[in-house]
Amino acid sequence: MRPMNDLLSATGTTIFTVMSALATQHGAINLGQGFPDYDGPADVIEAAAAALKDGRNQYPPLTGVPELRQATAAHNRRFYGLEIDPDREVVVTSGATEAITACLMAVLNPGDECVLIEPLYDTYLPVVKLLGAVPKLVRLSPPKWELPRAELAAAFGPRTKAILINTPMNPTGKVFTAAELAFIAELVERHDAYAICDEVYEHLTYDGWRHIPLMTLPGMRGRCMRISSAGKTFSLTGWKIGMITCDASLQPNVAKAHQNLTFTTPPNLQRAVAVGLAKDDAYFDSIGQELAAKRDLLDAGLRALGFETLPVMGSYFVTADIRSIGFMGDDVAFCRTITEEAKVTAIPVTAFYAGADAPSHYARFAFCKNEAVLREALERLGSWIAARRPARAAAGD
Ligand code: PMP
Ligand code: GLN
Repeated sequence: MRPMNDLLSATGTTIFTVMSALATQHGAINLGQGFPDYDGPADVIEAAAAALKDGRNQYPPLTGVPELRQATAAHNRRFYGLEIDPDREVVVTSGATEAITACLMAVLNPGDECVLIEPLYDTYLPVVKLLGAVPKLVRLSPPKWELPRAELAAAFGPRTKAILINTPMNPTGKVFTAAELAFIAELVERHDAYAICDEVYEHLTYDGWRHIPLMTLPGMRGRCMRISSAGKTFSLTGWKIGMITCDASLQPNVAKAHQNLTFTTPPNLQRAVAVGLAKDDAYFDSIGQELAAKRDLLDAGLRALGFETLPVMGSYFVTADIRSIGFMGDDVAFCRTITEEAKVTAIPVTAFYAGADAPSHYARFAFCKNEAVLREALERLGSWIAARRPARAAAGD
């Protein structure tokens, strides 16, 4: 048989699926893949159930049902002061995952350069490569994950067509500052480029950190494609409803990419997400507050066990330094070992790097779980660490 597509043949199964399968195999608490173990808001779920029964079950409009496009425009106005035309500036997709691919498809030609920031979410690089575009990687470094401005500026050149940024950022928990965004905006404008903005954690920020869409900065309205995810905003990750907001000059290509990927997205779930986006401010405040409490529990618990952890300003994830408890192997070995022995699963942070010499001493733990589950995971890790101590002492560590 002739070889199939080389890039896909060379791409492994996503780390999230690999670690979730390992967690199931070992009966481990899954703090790996980022999904809540609790349900989303009851009124949103009720709205979906009702929307299944009222006869609107055929193909919805290509760019999304009017209710959700209008709700997306209203959401942009309420939270970010963006005036969006629901008919000409929104495309609803089957999750942010599709949205990211659709936006990359909308702007990249083979040979165009696309700036990506490491550590990066696992779909970015394969999609850029499948489109025949050339990734230019710029790396953020722990523990502060600050934007290396000179390197970023150097990554832009005459062939740069786009940059993909993720804020709040997975897996680092970083929220880009206004100054960092202004620096990026200046580069985008100077190089006449586009920005694909993965903002799926837009409402999951902590300690007074506020998400700022790049699209709200001067000169950026017509260059950004801003991506939201109902999965994250409503703790319903299986629903796979994404919303793209972009200027009317960009939207036709984004819509045509969506037309060739999935064409449309289930109308019933779209209508329920519209109900969710209309929820009051108290709901949007509460998601961050509830997750901040979970973050605090897991972060303090890991620290009490001896892990050094990195600051988390947003997202579902806390990153822990595995060397600080004396673990001698790399992050992949650590995540496998704790799954098998402690019965707790995490994600190795090297999975978010494409280049060589990635830091290999960090594990990412998801805290979007019930507090009893987080406590049980900490207990298990504590027992595992305690049981290893005599062995390590005997080995002279
Ligand atoms: N981007 C980032 C940074 C993510 O963490 C995720 C994970 N959910 C996605 C995109 C995909 O979102 P969705 O489930 O809506 O496709
Ligand atoms: N975004 C989720 C995470 O980072 C996983 C999504 C997926 O499994 N593809 O854990």
